[in-house]
Amino acid sequence: MRFLIDTHVHSVASGHAYSTVQEIAREARRAGLKLVALTDHGPAMEGAPCVYHFWNLKVIPDAIGSVRILKGAELNIVDYDGALDLPEPILSGLEFALAGFHHICLAPRDAARNTETLLRALENPHVDAISHPNNPQVPVDLEGFVRGCAERNRLVELNQNSLTAGGEAAARCVLLARCCVRLGVRVLCGSDAHIAFAVGRFEPMGRLFREIGMPEELVMNASMKRFKSYLAERAERTCGWVKAQEVDA
Ligand SMILES: [Zn+2]
Ligand SMILES: [Zn+2]
Repeated sequence: MRFLIDTHVHSVASGHAYSTVQEIAREARRAGLKLVALTDHGPAMEGAPCVYHFWNLKVIPDAIGSVRILKGAELNIVDYDGALDLPEPILSGLEFALAGFHHICLAPRDAARNTETLLRALENPHVDAISHPNNPQVPVDLEGFVRGCAERNRLVELNQNSLTAGGEAAARCVLLARCCVRLGVRVLCGSDAHIAFAVGRFEPMGRLFREIGMPEELVMNASMKRFKSYLAERAERTCGWVKAQEVDA
């Protein structure tokens, strides 16, 4: 399986990441990618950019060299009802959005209630996936979560950073991936790169997919055609301005 897309990348704007958009595009090309989603942390995280950063993403070209740049965010879930840290007019200008339960922005509760909060955040039409739902600091009922994503026609992020971190984070990432295979739920692979050299380096994810028999048709990152058809689905859901046909095949 060849990974062509990385849907979770942080630039220097995140405050604790170290590469510019240009450096990210260069490393993405080296890694053989055709598309990266810029997903800098939302304003509720300390050191993250303010709301105007997300409003002004339009100044970034749609492509740098051969790499399509999708302008997005990794939003923070800021209350137990799944509220997010960017207002609606800004959200509707984004081409892609992850939402994350970060324990420094919201105190985790028990697994049942955390799962409910994540699924509530997913009810927002602009949210494509929850970032790192396998994070052991925020206990989640993984099977209930995967079923909830499928019911809402959303994608499950498998986070490359978690896999390479080892320990419980990696073990829960494997459980999550197995659950997606068993239930036939679509996945997205995100490097969660905080430096350009980590963009699109999905070798450990590829090994895991071979081990567990991940069907290629469930992996949105392995085909531009599949990803474009997901973006078309997204555009219909959000009535947004991303035209799937503008993403080069
Ligand atoms: Zn970060
Ligand atoms: Zn992230």
